[in-house]
Amino acid sequence: MGAMSTPPNGLRDEEGLFGERAPEVSVEFERRDPDPLSEGVALGDGDLDVHGGLDARSGPSGDPYGTPEPDPRIPEAAELPPGVTQPSRRGSSSRFLTDVIVEMGLAPRERVDLAIEASRNEGTTPERVLLAGGAITPDGLARALAERYGLDHLDLEAFPVDMGAANLVVNTAAKRYQAVPVAFVDKRTLLLAMADPSNVLAVDDVAIMTGYEVRVAVASPEAIGDLISRMARLDDVVSGESAVEEAEDSQAEIVNLRETADDAPVVKLVNQIVAQAVERGASDVHLAPDGHEVRVRVRVDGIMQDITTVPRRMAAGVVSRVKIMAELDIAERRLPQDGRVSLTVEGRHIDLRVVTLPSVHGESIVMRILDKDSVVMKLEKLGMADIERERFEKAFHETHGAVLVTGPTGSGKSTTLYAALLALNTPEKNIITVEDPVEYQLDGITQVQVSAKVGLTFSTGLRAMVRADPDVIMVGEIRDRDTAQIAVESALTGHLVLSTLHTNDAPSAITRLVEMGIEPFLVASALDCVLAQRLARMLCSNCKQRTIVAAEVLRENGYKAIVDLEAYEPSGCRRCNGTGYRGRVGLYEVMSVSSEIRAMALERRPAEELRDVAVRQGMRLLRDDGLQKVRQGLTSIAEIARVIGSS
Ligand SMILES: [Zn+2]
Repeated sequence: MGAMSTPPNGLRDEEGLFGERAPEVSVEFERRDPDPLSEGVALGDGDLDVHGGLDARSGPSGDPYGTPEPDPRIPEAAELPPGVTQPSRRGSSSRFLTDVIVEMGLAPRERVDLAIEASRNEGTTPERVLLAGGAITPDGLARALAERYGLDHLDLEAFPVDMGAANLVVNTAAKRYQAVPVAFVDKRTLLLAMADPSNVLAVDDVAIMTGYEVRVAVASPEAIGDLISRMARLDDVVSGESAVEEAEDSQAEIVNLRETADDAPVVKLVNQIVAQAVERGASDVHLAPDGHEVRVRVRVDGIMQDITTVPRRMAAGVVSRVKIMAELDIAERRLPQDGRVSLTVEGRHIDLRVVTLPSVHGESIVMRILDKDSVVMKLEKLGMADIERERFEKAFHETHGAVLVTGPTGSGKSTTLYAALLALNTPEKNIITVEDPVEYQLDGITQVQVSAKVGLTFSTGLRAMVRADPDVIMVGEIRDRDTAQIAVESALTGHLVLSTLHTNDAPSAITRLVEMGIEPFLVASALDCVLAQRLARMLCSNCKQRTIVAAEVLRENGYKAIVDLEAYEPSGCRRCNGTGYRGRVGLYEVMSVSSEIRAMALERRPAEELRDVAVRQGMRLLRDDGLQKVRQGLTSIAEIARVIGSS
């Protein structure tokens, strides 16, 4: 470990990546015109010539931070990234800041006049007097400054700060200038959040330091200070796990993330990417090269989000760094590799499962985040309605038979199985699992990790388990005929078998097993219950807004509605990173295998017919459970349509 002796692509001689110059970096938005600020336009009295209007959401085709032509057209607020407030007009006006404060209603005229008087005698500015007297807030003053200079105001708690940009300026300089780059406007331009936009020296220095042109926006000194400490904290929170927990899994290697000074910028960036992913509750981090830069994306609540772009000259270093952490062969770039690393992020034990995939644009990396400290949820917390939960509970409390949980990847199947195991986990029961990977460790349960390297597959593991006289067997997934056959046979010979299967709905589990080559009579007699599920994002309770869903919209989504529905829709605030959603709730469809359904399974009847019978016998379809959760204000109709489809 620690042998980062040959950083590829000459990273070694790119000294001071963050301290000196980092030219030719991240391309997010098309460049349209040079920014006057970087050409040294004095930010002084009266004629600051800064243009710009956030006229498009960030994307490859638009410059979200400004059109260079003075453009009176103020775009819809909905198009802006979260946290941006535009000035009522672009470019500086020759108004006094105090007049702007009054016009914006931040403080009454009389109070401002008193402050102007007082400032004369006290040798300070009226703004300082107002601030000291509590007549305006620091953020209010920042908003007034932005308006005065015709610049955007940034709420840095809501604004999606790009770490790649923020890292271009070292912390000490950021503190000195009270300024942090927060985004790439285009190939050559940074958006710089500043407490004092009239500090032209700071603008020049940042331009020289980074090699970028600079466009200025305003944020309060407090917010900038918070951001600087947050950046420092994100860097610090990731640390290698101490060697206490000697590898219970030989693949998990302990890594010291502190490296030599040469690799510091790369190490820092990788640490921040991981820390930010964990902070956001991401399940995966994707590093995707596009031939130039590396896009960094995270999956949060099942949705991919871009978090930064690694500049070309650091791209190879970042990829190598991750491979070194996971003990992979950094010289091997053409074959997929698979490794693990244990980390501590803000005191939480995190396992990263690292997979590299060669792509036409270079090596891409997917890191799966397994939070070892996350707790297994109780069944009652999963959002299952009483009827569904009782049906499911009854089935897995039987002494034998098979209970299956179905759904696509990432639908929360294993969370449900773990909740069931937790409920079953009593000393008098012998519970054995075979999993890939072991996501949670449960006391008192024998958990076996599938390992292709030693030939331990689901089916070989399952065969071995049956000999160990278990009461309850949990198989992570039924993927092949062998596994299905042993699972079904075990269920028929006095074991309770829990497993998962990839099907879209509950009734299809029966037809799928038969398609896999299991005799219908075995399926019919072994299977007791099938639970199909999805995860829908929950509306952020802080910002969700009431709405009326028209009956027509409901009908378009496959519901037989005749009246409107009062519900909620997403809005977006800083608590939810502007997405309008926070956390997820399960949608469930629970089918008890009745004698009528067993008879139909024997006759190999299609899934649709099985479904109709199950519905008649009280099964609630996934989308109906979804609608119920819309009614409860937990999620939106759009989200249900997204996860289930509108059929
Ligand atoms: Zn919110």
